[in-house]
Amino acid sequence: MTAEAAVACRSCGGLDLHPFLDLGVTPLADALVAADNLDAPEERYPLQVAFCPDCALVQILEEVPPHKLFVDNYRYFSSYSDAVLEHSRRHATSLIDTRRLGPDSLVVELASNDGYLLRNFVVAGVPVLGIDPAPDQAAAANAAGVPTIDAFFGSDVAETLRHDGRVADVIIANNVLAHVPALNDFVAGMAMLLADDGLITIESPYVRELIDRVEFDTIYHEHYCYYSCTSMERLLRRHQLHLNDVEFFPDLHGGTLRWHVGHHDDPSDRVVEYLQRERDAGVDRFAYYQAFAIRVEDVADRLRTLIGDLVASGATVAGYGAAAKGATLLNYVGLGTDLVSFVVDRNPHKQGRHMPGTHQPIEDPAVLGERRPDYLLLLAWNFAAEIAAQQRDYLAGGGLMILPVPEPRIMP
Ligand SMILES: [Zn+2]
Repeated sequence: MTAEAAVACRSCGGLDLHPFLDLGVTPLADALVAADNLDAPEERYPLQVAFCPDCALVQILEEVPPHKLFVDNYRYFSSYSDAVLEHSRRHATSLIDTRRLGPDSLVVELASNDGYLLRNFVVAGVPVLGIDPAPDQAAAANAAGVPTIDAFFGSDVAETLRHDGRVADVIIANNVLAHVPALNDFVAGMAMLLADDGLITIESPYVRELIDRVEFDTIYHEHYCYYSCTSMERLLRRHQLHLNDVEFFPDLHGGTLRWHVGHHDDPSDRVVEYLQRERDAGVDRFAYYQAFAIRVEDVADRLRTLIGDLVASGATVAGYGAAAKGATLLNYVGLGTDLVSFVVDRNPHKQGRHMPGTHQPIEDPAVLGERRPDYLLLLAWNFAAEIAAQQRDYLAGGGLMILPVPEPRIMP
């Protein structure tokens, strides 16, 4: 692997990235295949994960052009998850309350998708601005009364807004920092756009959950970076921003952190505690990541055996959730249509297409009633509780669910 030395850390620019997991050469996880395109070759890219010993940031080595990921192939609409909607509503309510937001405030959300979060501020009479590069999602937001610019955020967008006299009292960046290839330009833009006493909240899956719970399927080309408090703090400091509080949501996207960030240095006890716990666990050292690849291989082997045995005994298995992590899992574990015959998803923009690489057709969850697969592999395991609640009839009729990580098991 001679190419590695040429790859610089996305955060600190360090050239000493240490790879620790190779997921092979895989299709883009969100590049769902149209039915009339199944015979055409799919674009594939290497998927390797590395650790930067200089700033502790975990990141993938390859860089697929963002336009390919977030414009051409992007069909994720946040509004299709009840859990995400509820989490967002609470976040907005709490911000309006604690930051005393009103008609003179401005809330800016980066990667605002279809406006599902900002809508809560609009209803409360708080001015908002969404920024999202996906044209369909931005159009849906504008149609729903959430003013949204269709663009990739960075220092140039921030400068234009600032020039127009727009300064943000609150900037929300949920599940976007993992998706940003030009990390420093993005964070510089946030610093530029934030009012002197403003607050940035950033949410991203926690790298400790990824490692400790073997959530290897959350690694795909869209996710350039995987954050700890340590790596986040070092990134922010480079832009004179400060990490002042941290919250943990264990059930959101497999374990999510919310960081509170501002221009002033005022860390809570929780920040100090998290940084200390990460040092104790070795999150800032390569050894913490080294055994991960072996554990991933073990989970993949056991899942392949479990499903192979079920199918060999005459059972049928379908997948739930045509999300990017589902594509990583099916491709890495090697679950083709012979083992997992189809996949269901609530998002109508995905139905009628096929999973990348493995080509399972994506159907409306309503088909579960007629087709009654014996087992449902939870590709979207982060929504396990929500799916179980929606699929009460399937479960009552004797259907069973398979949870793939942290270890494959059949749920009653
Ligand atoms: Zn680095």
